[in-house]
Amino acid sequence: MHYLDHNATSPLRPECLSAMTHALGVGGNPSSVHAKGRAARAITEEAREKVARLAGAKPDQVIFTSGATESNNLALFGAVEGSLAENDFSNGGSGRITRVFVLAVEHSSVLVTADRLAERFPWVKTQRLAVTADGVIDLEGLRVALREGKGRALVAVMAANNETGVVQPIADVSKLVREAGALLLVDAVPAAGKIKLDFSLCDYMTLSAHKIGGPQGAGALVVREGMPLQPQLVGGGQQKGLRAGSENLSGIAGLGAAAHSLEDGEGERARIVYLRDHFETALKQALPEAVIFGAAQPRLCSTSSFAIPGLTAETALIGLDLDGVMMSSGSTCSSGKVAISHVLAAMGVEEKLAACALRASFGWSSTIEDVQAAVASLVKLHERTKGKVAA
Ligand code: PMP
Repeated sequence: MHYLDHNATSPLRPECLSAMTHALGVGGNPSSVHAKGRAARAITEEAREKVARLAGAKPDQVIFTSGATESNNLALFGAVEGSLAENDFSNGGSGRITRVFVLAVEHSSVLVTADRLAERFPWVKTQRLAVTADGVIDLEGLRVALREGKGRALVAVMAANNETGVVQPIADVSKLVREAGALLLVDAVPAAGKIKLDFSLCDYMTLSAHKIGGPQGAGALVVREGMPLQPQLVGGGQQKGLRAGSENLSGIAGLGAAAHSLEDGEGERARIVYLRDHFETALKQALPEAVIFGAAQPRLCSTSSFAIPGLTAETALIGLDLDGVMMSSGSTCSSGKVAISHVLAAMGVEEKLAACALRASFGWSSTIEDVQAAVASLVKLHERTKGKVAA
């Protein structure tokens, strides 16, 4: 089996499995004051420190969640609802959030939530920010958007894209956002562990465990103190009342262990980028007509978004699967239904080519054999397609 779908879910790292098994053995509720509770609390607090280090943040800024979907929901709904209580309308830096700008290539957990925000809070205007043909934010468009219109703004720009790996210039975005007195949410899910994260540039940051070798169903939202944040799950007073519910102890332990594994990740990243580059070079050598999306821009070491004209993603995925090679077409969350990737559409990729888009994503367990098997299978499938056309 050749697994090249790490951006969908990266297999569980052995060190995460053992941290999770240990946590399950400890049991106990981190809110209990007795010895078992304290042991559980020690696990969550150790993980909090590790996650904070990954994000370039402080431990008390980390809120554990059920994953990045919840984190993005909490950040967006929480910021807008939380800002209702702030009634200083005198300057752009405080008061109600009335404008929400989201990058057109964000994950659906940002895009759909932003649409819901506009439905639930009629005074909130939501606007999608354009990207260039290379998938990078149009900074001038952001500058203009922030200047036009009144009221406090919230901006969501991901650190890097999950489909193409294209890295966004967060420092430049942050500068514009700060100058406008707006707030910045950075979805760092695919970027975590691949590029250095700097929480000081933003106000909210989203992380997910299962994209970095931890378990599914665990994630975090990192929030700067003083930022508006209305809890979306209410009940017990866990996590300072910001996210009620008994903590997912083993999930949090797994997330912490994954974050820790990435701390000295230079070697791993070098190996991953070697594999990704080898894949793209071999593919282009065999099939010069193959197109690699976003290749002219800084990209995550883990990701290759490409198309072989004439070989549709649907056909390719079935053929690859029969050869034991696992990849995605566009983002996993939208596969199953055959829709053109909204990311490639925003980059202006023509529909016919976008229908052929595949994503190979590499991670800690990837090997050169995976790369060779993937290229061989793609070349074979391409030959077969050509044969069909000729016949
Ligand atoms: N943001 C991005 C960029 C993602 O790629 C994903 C997962 N596909 C999510 C958010 C949602 O993460 P989770 O699966 O933890 O809810």
